[in-house]
Amino acid sequence: MTNPTPRPLSVLAVPAFKDNYLWLIHDGVHAAVIDPGDAAPVIAALAAHHLTLTAILLTHHHADHIGGVPSLLAHASGSAAIAVYGPRAEAIATVTVPLDDGDLVDVPGLALALRVLSVPGHTLGHIAFLREQAAGHWLFCGDTLFAGGCGRLFEGTPAQMRASLARFLVLPSDTAVYCAHEYTLANLRFAAAAEPDNELIAERIAAETAKRARGVPTLPSTIGLEKATNPFLRDEQPGIVANLLALGKLDPHAPPGAAFAALRTWKNTF
Ligand code: ZN
Ligand code: FE
Repeated sequence: MTNPTPRPLSVLAVPAFKDNYLWLIHDGVHAAVIDPGDAAPVIAALAAHHLTLTAILLTHHHADHIGGVPSLLAHASGSAAIAVYGPRAEAIATVTVPLDDGDLVDVPGLALALRVLSVPGHTLGHIAFLREQAAGHWLFCGDTLFAGGCGRLFEGTPAQMRASLARFLVLPSDTAVYCAHEYTLANLRFAAAAEPDNELIAERIAAETAKRARGVPTLPSTIGLEKATNPFLRDEQPGIVANLLALGKLDPHAPPGAAFAALRTWKNTF
């Protein structure tokens, strides 16, 4: 007996709070949600699209990424138990399947396998989920990489975050990047200040501003676009280093890698 042809997958952006996106991956019948900080918008999206929730995936322990889990589990009670995947290295009470770097999650209900990448920096146990299948490369990176920027260093060091972002740099350029927040325009304003001679940043600001004017998410981004316009993936570019030096934000005798820390510090107060 052959397996039925798997139904194609799509990804829905579920807006929550001020600027979060809760990502809903579905095949028209079953759905998995990434980082449900709030349950109500997820429950509404499931109902609107006639979907049954079969898995919850968490990137890190912050409340705006996990807060909706208890209500989602209560809402789904009666149906089969829903697995909650999350980083083993973080204390998240609702997690039932703790994950480590390199694990492969066979997502219940969906023809979907997600690779786990350990990406410390924003938090120390932060993980990302990567779909490596040729049908579409997808990265769910939580608060690690943002369109035009990167997450704040609440727990990790600049070196840790830089090493985590380096894991994304080697992914195929067409990898779709599903970040957890709509921070793109503010990030790109900083990108333009960090690398004034990069014309691709100005072009991108125009394109993303038009999306926001239409009320459309700027996400997903792609690894290719981020490599071209995101200063935190371009910290060793001569134009960025020269600009940091000219602005007195980088010590000329600083060791390699210091530009990343200088960018992150500057962005904190930009
Ligand atoms: Zn966070
Ligand atoms: Fe967040």
